[in-house]
Amino acid sequence: MIVATVAESTPEDAVKWGRQARKFADIVELRIDALDKPGQFPDVLNRLQGPFIITCRSPEDGGEFTGHLQEKRTLLTKAVKRGVEYIDVSKTIPSSVRKQIGGTQILSYHNMDRTPTDLSQIVENLEDHEPDHMKIATQCNTLEDSLRLLDITPPSSCPISVMGMGECGLITRVLHKQSQSFFAYGSANPNTTPAPGQPSVQELSELYRIREITPSTDLYGLLGNPVSHSWSPTVFNQLFKEHDLDAVYLPLRMIQTQTVNTLVHQLDFQGFSVTLPHKRTIVSLLDEINPYAEQIEAVNTVVRRDGLLEGYNTDARAALESIIENWPDDRKENVPDEEESEQQDQDEENQQKSSEDIADPNSETLNNPITGQNILILGAGGAARAVLISLKEAGGEITVTNRTKERGETLARQFNVSFLPWEERTEAGDIDLLVNATSVGMKPNEDLTPFPAEALSSDTVVFDMVYTPPRTKLLKEARKLGCHTISGRDMFYRQAHRQFRLWTGIQTRARAEDG
Ligand code: NAP
Repeated sequence: MIVATVAESTPEDAVKWGRQARKFADIVELRIDALDKPGQFPDVLNRLQGPFIITCRSPEDGGEFTGHLQEKRTLLTKAVKRGVEYIDVSKTIPSSVRKQIGGTQILSYHNMDRTPTDLSQIVENLEDHEPDHMKIATQCNTLEDSLRLLDITPPSSCPISVMGMGECGLITRVLHKQSQSFFAYGSANPNTTPAPGQPSVQELSELYRIREITPSTDLYGLLGNPVSHSWSPTVFNQLFKEHDLDAVYLPLRMIQTQTVNTLVHQLDFQGFSVTLPHKRTIVSLLDEINPYAEQIEAVNTVVRRDGLLEGYNTDARAALESIIENWPDDRKENVPDEEESEQQDQDEENQQKSSEDIADPNSETLNNPITGQNILILGAGGAARAVLISLKEAGGEITVTNRTKERGETLARQFNVSFLPWEERTEAGDIDLLVNATSVGMKPNEDLTPFPAEALSSDTVVFDMVYTPPRTKLLKEARKLGCHTISGRDMFYRQAHRQFRLWTGIQTRARAEDG
């Protein structure tokens, strides 16, 4: 059952958000401690449709109620008399007072700092009070905390609801059936978070489709830190829905790369996207690695096949495809004519493509507009390696520049391309293609650019791999000068569609509206 938590300071807002949330939730939890005047809660109940959980939480349980215990008892007793379905009572309320309140009670344990190691002891302690229902809500500082919550042994005597707070706790809400959790809590108002990291009920219902999740649902996720900015959950959950697949994709804020093993063994995850800081460290934990990922020395896609973990990198091919397909028409003298190109596409479709081909940029490097172009790549990290490999194979004349000289020199030496010190990057001569493969200009530093506008020529094609925001300062300035620009958003969708194909075997295409 999905619970919409309404935690608003005025009855008007509580009614407004409670009504909106009813579209997605089965039951409304009214946090009367959030109301400026908790005594106004009957007004909200009169104007909303139940069923209801009434909660009046004090600061030690993450709430805002600062009145006396007797006052709390009076409010909750009033709610029971009105016939609300559940009263949430904290374990910190003395049992004699809980008895006086009566009603159907959810006995709750909160830990706002951490997830204790003795979770089974907490269940036992709560069970000693013979509650109608119990709830355990703890702060998940790591993914391991969430995995322990999901592994909790439910009591035999009453239903349990388990939830992890914080970004790492999201998985406990989406996969609440794994812990046999009766309720999955989400916030009614998507703009406020009554519990830290609490998703909205709309997200739980529409993005993660938690009502449809069963033990046989295939699990996929993004391994990274941070992950909250990522578009991947939206993109992949939408693709699963469009293709009617029983699968869900979760952002997994992971600190230790080794946690991937627990995700696979405890929850049977079928695949992952991998982002910073795990792209390189994950390599040693995989059973097989695709040659391109090996060359790039970074994995952004993990596929579980026949019990083995296989690593791929879809960035190289997606970057090249993005550049080629968005190359200005008037400079396509090296590209085959449309008929020839269509025939090539057809030939490619007809081939039974292996998984390696999906990540391998080679097959699209013939007859492309890149051959002989002067290219300056800014950066020497994972993204730079991926784009360098594919552009070199496409025949580009490449120069690398990087803030940290040694890193840039090492990369240039390894792939036998030129190196230019970062301070001299504006002196590279005539550049046909400028690629930003640094993170400069990425949110929250949108006001930065890695290349001064005054050094740009209008003849240069500018490709920025940064995709948040889609229009970076570099791209805006380049456009103003008349440069042809390509956004990292286009590449993002292309690499995501390749990941989707590696996991599901389904070929999809990044659509114009994606890019
Ligand atoms: P990375 O491995 O951490 O490399 C970061 C690069 O940025 C390094 O070359 C670093 O230089 C440089 N850099 C960072 N801060 C800088 C600054 N203040 N001034 C100058 N250079 C700076 O990261 P990555 O994986 O390569 O990712 C780089 C960017 O590409 C990110 O924004 C990422 O989101 C984006 N990306 C986009 C896609 C897509 O699909 N569009 C795919 C992959 C990556 P040092 O060596 O000196 O530290």
